[in-house]
Amino acid sequence: MPQRSPPPAGDRCSAHYADGLRAHAILLQHCTECGHVRYPAAPICPQCWSERAEWRPHCSCGEVTSFVWYMESLHPNFTEIPYNVTLVRLDAGPVVVSSLPDATIDSLRVGDRVHATFSDEPGGFSVLLFEKDQEA
Ligand SMILES: [Zn+2]
Repeated sequence: MPQRSPPPAGDRCSAHYADGLRAHAILLQHCTECGHVRYPAAPICPQCWSERAEWRPHCSCGEVTSFVWYMESLHPNFTEIPYNVTLVRLDAGPVVVSSLPDATIDSLRVGDRVHATFSDEPGGFSVLLFEKDQEA
């Protein structure tokens, strides 16, 4: 299991997202003027410039849109190789950078349906990870 670094010190925008991960939920910021989902969270909507927003929980489901396998450790916290860095398009729309720690090189494919898992780390933070859905 890799040692994960805590997220950067949060600001008022990202704190809600981090709180959601600790509660094992994906909270996304929605513009209350135009409905745009802001990810990453931002103080102003990039679509309509409104400062108004609310946080809503979302389905933790998505689809793999891209991935890369690292065959050597490029960071001292990632000693278990190979490991993947994967882009997942959440069903809510945003694309998140994450990983599927249980995936294998032979099993991971673009288009795979995935769902979130949450790794509670010793530093009191949680990391958003994914695993493949069971195939029907
Ligand atoms: Zn807006």
